[in-house]
Amino acid sequence: MSIASHPYPEVKIERCTGCGRCVAACPERLFTFKVVGYRKHATLTAPERCTQCGKCIVECPFNALS
Ligand code: SF4
Ligand code: SF4
Repeated sequence: MSIASHPYPEVKIERCTGCGRCVAACPERLFTFKVVGYRKHATLTAPERCTQCGKCIVECPFNALS
C-alpha cells in the first residue's frame, strides 16, 4: 500500500488497545478516543490535516496503524 493511495493512517480497531501512544505522538494532535461498549480505540479527528509524518505509526506498539 503506497502513501499516495492512502494519505493518512487508518486505525485497525480490532488491534487497537487504546493505549494512547499515538495521541501523544501526533504533532498535529489529530487523535482522540472513541468509546464503543467496554472498549475504546483511537480515531483520527481531522485526517485532512495529517502531514504524513509517520510518527503515530512508529509509536504504536500493537501495529494497529497502517
Ligand atoms: S502521520 Fe503524523 S500527522 Fe498524521 S496522524 Fe500520524 S502523527 Fe499525526
Ligand atoms: S498507539 Fe496504537 S494501540 Fe495505542 S491507541 Fe494508538 S492506535 Fe491504538
